[in-house]
Amino acid sequence: MYVSFDDTDSNQGLCTTFLATEIMKEVEELDLIGYPRLVRLNPAVPWKTRGNGSLSLRFGRGAGRKIKIGEVSGRDIFCFERQLRKEPDADDLLQKILPILKKNRHYSSDSGIVVSEKKPSQSYYWKGVRRIVEKSDIEEELDRIGALRCGFGDGRGIIGSTCGMSWRPHDSTYEIITYRPRDRWGTDRMLETGSIGEMDRAFPSTFNSWEERFQKVAMVPGTPCPVMYGLRGDSVEDLPPASRLIRTEPLERSFIFLTNQGTDDHIIFRPKVLEQMSAYYIEGTVLSRRHLPGGHVVIGLETMYGTIECTAYEPSKEFRSAFEWLVPGDRIGVMGELRTEPRTINVEKMKVIRTVREFEKVSNPFCATCGRTMESVGKGKGYRCRRCGTTSMEPLTKENIRWIVPGWYEPPTSARRHLSKPLKRMGEEQPVEFVNSRS
Ligand SMILES: [Zn+2]
Repeated sequence: MYVSFDDTDSNQGLCTTFLATEIMKEVEELDLIGYPRLVRLNPAVPWKTRGNGSLSLRFGRGAGRKIKIGEVSGRDIFCFERQLRKEPDADDLLQKILPILKKNRHYSSDSGIVVSEKKPSQSYYWKGVRRIVEKSDIEEELDRIGALRCGFGDGRGIIGSTCGMSWRPHDSTYEIITYRPRDRWGTDRMLETGSIGEMDRAFPSTFNSWEERFQKVAMVPGTPCPVMYGLRGDSVEDLPPASRLIRTEPLERSFIFLTNQGTDDHIIFRPKVLEQMSAYYIEGTVLSRRHLPGGHVVIGLETMYGTIECTAYEPSKEFRSAFEWLVPGDRIGVMGELRTEPRTINVEKMKVIRTVREFEKVSNPFCATCGRTMESVGKGKGYRCRRCGTTSMEPLTKENIRWIVPGWYEPPTSARRHLSKPLKRMGEEQPVEFVNSRS
């Protein structure tokens, strides 16, 4: 029996993953089947709370291997590899979970919960992670599979719950999330910064925890939510020992989630048309570059969809250097969401495909007959020798060394989206290290 819920948090605190841990703690009469799942959905939807993450659990009678997935106040929590045929009663399970959800949801959130024996069609995951899904789109599907659902507020959470439940992982990662005791929520988090750097170096299968360049922590939230940190990685076996290297104040619980984070699942490749509120990979030729107040850098890109503006926003910090180094004629690919007002791609990652040679004017040309410096006739009209009347169109130039070379470029760890696939996971390495001119 699958249970999914979404949109229970707010920007002020709490956290949908915490609710998941409460449910796993409380529902003791059933076994968990498989890892709890944290499924991130389209980050471009305007009404998202922090991370637009939906949670999915599966309950039943366990069979096969028993795997430890978490700990609450010293008690171990397990999941099972498979489930025995008999399904628990959907309504009983919903009635058991509803009070836990009501107690742990933010009163202003548009929470939703879905309980179903069958999964919705996988197409709802792809719609949910890449496009805008309306409630009417999913009602029919939920009726078809006979799912129970319950919504609060405007019930939008039912949409995310359905899309999250329908995820069949192809590419996936794990995250171990640790939580603070209730009496510490909202207070400053105590941790030894250096221990995160040590962990990062000791476990290369983890990602997005640490910014080596600035010796900065990227895995600890700044919100007053119950989370101490989230440690992401490709190897589920590595996460518990990696987590033990991180020295913090005492923790109350920790859980491992299977997630779609760091997979680029939200990116649409080779789109036929570009629609707002979706994220794309598109290629084009650099036409221009300009700067906006606030430190944003905008590139005009000539593409098969016409001229598209692409912006590296201030929070992407030194990633903006890569934009600064581009010149007209360079061929690049960008990934990011298409914003409406102004219409621009919010760039998450960039691939430099081909660079042009760049020349800079050194002086006016010399006359081939007498050797004197020629004079400019007027802008764009070339040069002429006053004495001999010789003409030339081109000034003397020198070739500049290009700072940028072909390859992938990405923002620092702290500026990445949950869904963005880090270069590390792509088997790529940024070919040019950014200079620390911006911080
Ligand atoms: Zn001359």
